[in-house]
Amino acid sequence: MVASGERRHVQRPRIWAVRAARLFDGYTVRPGRPLVLIDGSRIAGVDMTGAPPSADLHVLDLGDATLLPGLIDSHVHLAFDPDDKSKEAMAQEDARTTLARMRVHAGQQLRAGVTTVRDLGDRQFLAVSLRDHYTAGTEVGPEILAAGPPLTRTRGHCWFLGGEADGIAAVEAAVEERIARGVDVVKIMATGGVITPGWGPHQSQYTRDELAAVSRAAHAHGRPVTAHAHGREGMADAVAAGVDGIEHASFFTEDGVEPDWRTVAGVVEAGIFIGATEAWLPTGSMVAPHMAERVAQRSANFARMHREGARLVCCSDAGAGPRKPHGVLPHGIIQMGSLGLTNTEALASATTLAAQACGLADRKGRIAVGYDADLIAVADNPLHRLETLLDIRAVIRAGRVFQG
Ligand SMILES: [Zn+2]
Repeated sequence: MVASGERRHVQRPRIWAVRAARLFDGYTVRPGRPLVLIDGSRIAGVDMTGAPPSADLHVLDLGDATLLPGLIDSHVHLAFDPDDKSKEAMAQEDARTTLARMRVHAGQQLRAGVTTVRDLGDRQFLAVSLRDHYTAGTEVGPEILAAGPPLTRTRGHCWFLGGEADGIAAVEAAVEERIARGVDVVKIMATGGVITPGWGPHQSQYTRDELAAVSRAAHAHGRPVTAHAHGREGMADAVAAGVDGIEHASFFTEDGVEPDWRTVAGVVEAGIFIGATEAWLPTGSMVAPHMAERVAQRSANFARMHREGARLVCCSDAGAGPRKPHGVLPHGIIQMGSLGLTNTEALASATTLAAQACGLADRKGRIAVGYDADLIAVADNPLHRLETLLDIRAVIRAGRVFQG
């Protein structure tokens, strides 16, 4: 396990290298004793020749390990305590308390190999604050993309995060506020959810016109929109409204699951990313036990969506419940491998593809020259056995090393 905190961060020269037995570059595993040259926070070279490095180069040799791009979790809630069942209490919490918890959770993500998180719902734009705190560089944390408080109907799903907005004028104003506050992405609760009573997951919270207004307003500022959608209609409306991503994509009805494959065809045609929130611990109880069967059906639907060409991004919704602690993402990659994705595709769903979904494809999700030096090393070869992702040997974030 990787040690926590800045104390164990090892100081290295500006230019150094890391060596392992093999490397997953974001597309495939390449053998041959790769040597990855790191210059500051960027990757400066990838040498696959196996040749010995020059004698004066500082090399961190990780032995029989596989280097991978740092994992990207495109759906987390750093503010959520996974063990806290009544998240409404957050509405009364002071910002310092929330922020302190978020830092702990961000550290847990990093130690699990998740070097980038996209926070899809905070309070008071605290994920934006934490993003800027880490960017300043005095403390090492994962790179954060932040949505701020998700747009939701009055007393709708996750209202306690403070993003209530009803009607076209109000949602447009809410998007403008988020842009002014510096968000990276806009999140809207197209349907109800599991953790907020009052709005069931199958119920639409917004009309197609309201969703379209959100897409237009966000896109005018170059920001993507991702829509939380459990229900069939809500998902179809979000697709028609031109969102860039759909979270959950559950196709829940009032009492079951009924996928609409025409909507899936629309998702494929538009290139919309599906946030497959498939990461959870293998043991423990679900936040809502009656949902277990429906979640299993949803997993089967994801397998078919993948076969039909949908871009499934492995993510977690970390914080949402006790089986979704921060840093749970590797379990999701293992799960994706059991849904009919090849192990390579499963790895890509949390690296290359996740980087595309987050708009970071030019610097994250691959091990390549010019990319951010966000790397992890895992024992053995994850292409043979995805479970090796749970055996993290080192985490490198922006060129700084955390080692076990
Ligand atoms: Zn969520």
